[in-house]
Amino acid sequence: MAFLYEMHLHTCQGSACGRSTGAEHARFYKDAGYQGIFVTDHFFNGNTAIPKNLPWEERIHRFCQGYEDAKAEGDRIGLDVFFGWEQNFHGDEYLIYGLDKQFMLDHPEMEHWNRRQQLEEVHRHGGCVIQAHPFRDRGYIPRVLLGRQFCDGIEVINTNNHPYNDVCACRYAKEYDLTVIVGSDNHSHEWAKESKDILAALVLDQPLADSGELVKKILCREKMGIKFDKSHLSAPVDSPQKPSFWLDDQEMPYPTDRNWLADE
Ligand SMILES: [Zn+2]
Ligand SMILES: [Zn+2]
Repeated sequence: MAFLYEMHLHTCQGSACGRSTGAEHARFYKDAGYQGIFVTDHFFNGNTAIPKNLPWEERIHRFCQGYEDAKAEGDRIGLDVFFGWEQNFHGDEYLIYGLDKQFMLDHPEMEHWNRRQQLEEVHRHGGCVIQAHPFRDRGYIPRVLLGRQFCDGIEVINTNNHPYNDVCACRYAKEYDLTVIVGSDNHSHEWAKESKDILAALVLDQPLADSGELVKKILCREKMGIKFDKSHLSAPVDSPQKPSFWLDDQEMPYPTDRNWLADE
């Protein structure tokens, strides 16, 4: 049997750009036949809905509200709801899985981690890090930054991306043999309702008991299925490609000097 998971989702409670509550998302994914969702609201260096000038504990309570809302509704209707978040550095964003609210309450310094600290601390506490939509071309992203030494894998398909951004990500994953997941980056269940082909799902043959099982699969590079509308990858390039940069071990960018849409 196939069990579908949404790996990338924002609520209006945690993310300034979110349009649906956690409960609305939960009902939508239950109707769409999913086994579970990971709520990954924008953390405090990203497009968060949480004001900076509150005590840490209060900020974390507010940050977790979208997840908690989804979880309560999921428990009621029979959808598994897991916690995660998405942190932003300089337009390069990372999805964190496997940690929880208590971890956040206990680690106020996490707001100031650099990419290396993020990877080390998340690993130390039993989680994993995935670079989200590495080739995304949007106004809020000044340039494409590739940090493969600062993550455990990449989000190779993000159906909220320009499709050709994901063509680049597929090439990157293939050439560097990266672990991959997919996600819809769903900010609105109304958007997602337009077509079920708009969603990208991780497909597992057994349901996850907890998010630690997902972390294990990612770190052990276990084969996982992915499901998305393949026509997403054949759409034409609709704007010029942004130049891309590697991050060195000091997290400084240097040009990749290549066109990721072309074979090399
Ligand atoms: Zn957003
Ligand atoms: Zn996102």
